[in-house]
Amino acid sequence: MKPGEYLLLEPKPLPAFERGISKETRAFVLDRNGFTCQMCGAVAGEAHPYDPSRKTRLHIGHIVDKSMGGGDDPSNLKALCSICNEGARNLTHDRPSHQKLLIQVRRATGAGQLEVLKWLLAKYREQAAGMLNNQER
Ligand SMILES: [Zn+2]
Repeated sequence: MKPGEYLLLEPKPLPAFERGISKETRAFVLDRNGFTCQMCGAVAGEAHPYDPSRKTRLHIGHIVDKSMGGGDDPSNLKALCSICNEGARNLTHDRPSHQKLLIQVRRATGAGQLEVLKWLLAKYREQAAGMLNNQER
């Protein structure tokens, strides 16, 4: 290898949320869940129902997210396949288009729209403040 080059030995590091969960807890949760993804029902080692080119690999996910106070004990853990796990983490799969989303929001009741607004304001507080300031100028 040339200077400055490096070899990536582990292309897929373990997701951060799996750190801190012991091998024993992991094995216990997988066994309790029957080695089946608790979101889509895919079975470990079998072709994935959504993407048959991929063999199902199971991960351990939190039922109540750690950021919401969920713990690492088995009662708060569940088996998730890599596809659902990716979906849960970055929502790449089944993400609605902007247009579809706006149509849904426009058709919703006022109370529903206010719920969406509350959620968006909580998530995008700084951006929202910036937009309101620009309007006032
Ligand atoms: Zn799944």
